[in-house]
Amino acid sequence: MPDPRKPPRVIPIQSLFASDAKVYPRSISGVFQRWRWVFAWLTQIVFYGLCWLPWNGRQAVLFDLDARRFYVFDFVLWPQDIIYLAVLLVLSALALFLFTTVAGRLWCGYTCPQTVYTEIFLWIEQRIEGDRPQRIKLDAAPWSVRKLGLKASKHGVWLMLSLWTGFTFVGYFTPIRDLAAAAMTLSLSGWETFWVLFYGVATYGNAGFMREQMCKYICPYAQFQFVMFDPDTLIVAYDETRGEPRGGRSKKVAQRDQGLGDCIDCSICVQVCPTGIDIRDGLQLECIGCAACIDACDQVMDKMDYPRGLIRYSTENALKTRSSRSTIVRRSMRPRVLIYSAVFFSLLAATAWSLATRVPLKVDIERDRAALAVETSEGLIENAYRLQLINASEQPRSFAITVHGLAGIHLPERLEVSLPAAASGAVTVQVRVEPGELSGGSHPIRFTVADTSDPQVTVVEEARFWMP
Ligand code: SF4
Ligand code: SF4
Repeated sequence: MPDPRKPPRVIPIQSLFASDAKVYPRSISGVFQRWRWVFAWLTQIVFYGLCWLPWNGRQAVLFDLDARRFYVFDFVLWPQDIIYLAVLLVLSALALFLFTTVAGRLWCGYTCPQTVYTEIFLWIEQRIEGDRPQRIKLDAAPWSVRKLGLKASKHGVWLMLSLWTGFTFVGYFTPIRDLAAAAMTLSLSGWETFWVLFYGVATYGNAGFMREQMCKYICPYAQFQFVMFDPDTLIVAYDETRGEPRGGRSKKVAQRDQGLGDCIDCSICVQVCPTGIDIRDGLQLECIGCAACIDACDQVMDKMDYPRGLIRYSTENALKTRSSRSTIVRRSMRPRVLIYSAVFFSLLAATAWSLATRVPLKVDIERDRAALAVETSEGLIENAYRLQLINASEQPRSFAITVHGLAGIHLPERLEVSLPAAASGAVTVQVRVEPGELSGGSHPIRFTVADTSDPQVTVVEEARFWMP
């Protein structure tokens, strides 16, 4: 029984969201920073440019949801091709598993849209408001005409870029030239306006304000990727053995005589970190693997005349065993990686082969359910079918329809169907058979639909003929 004289034990409620202080990343240059910009340029050139690329008289990449057709260069994909979308998702997931197991958060640090847009927005912020010390000072200062001007300029540029991003995104679902013409004449539809604003505001909010909070609290990939890590996964790591004990030092006394490691505790690695963490505390969920701290620390090491790499790309095992770079590379070929690679590349090859040999014609056959079979005036047994044809190419085609599979099976007349480019159509077909010795019941037959000028484009579909 609890003693009523004792005060109750108070259990503190722990919040799952910690409101962090604003992070003011310091600008940095270096090898990895250059690579980050290379990837930022490449991804953004593709994103902003691809939707303007013409192809076969239309947009090269267009996801036309109204017409239920996806155009990807030479391919016209229909809802029936949803399997390719499913395969693409599986391939993306496998690629993430594979790359995360081998190289940790390389995707997050270099190509994730959240990181790339944060980097671009930060670059704009630095150009307008200055580097870390100036930005901290500006935010702490009372409002003035100068502060208002700087803030308004920054948000103005951010908003323009965000709206352009939203517009570009919508341009993958609505022909972007039509969208641009409508925007110029202020005649965008309600939905187009909504989606441009929606994606624009999402970009503005995520890259301008949420930043590292997205990675810490919202991104599901960030939450579960540690499951895929193992001691041989590449990570950005601080070499504690070499760096500790850390501390400031006199240049007049030899470093070893001061009993210090290589870390001079300058905190520059923390100041450049876009998520505001200290890599010297070990591997953390917040670390997006951007390597800004590597560039920063290498510069400090150069100034101190110490070897580079106090913070470097390494693995837990390599740090523990002091392994060389070649050992890290050799250990990247471990069974788990080989299995992921085998599955990923097999599926990739199968998908590529399937796309390369894909026939741009789809045929669906339905039996006429009104009458299973009728007897014609000539005494023949007739079944009716509805053939749904899709011309999945970008040229008009004519298709001849024939039927096989039973003795004496035929169509009452030669049948040809013409379809415009990237179009579908349905045709009702009567099939006749002499009853002869054919037993009652259902019998397998085959329809052949063949392009009259290109025999490569031929589809054979099975159906059933009902004999009363
Ligand atoms: S930048 Fe390098 S030397 Fe400076 S605190 Fe970080 S780890 Fe230590
Ligand atoms: S700790 Fe280093 S690698 Fe990780 S997010 Fe910060 S700067 Fe980038």
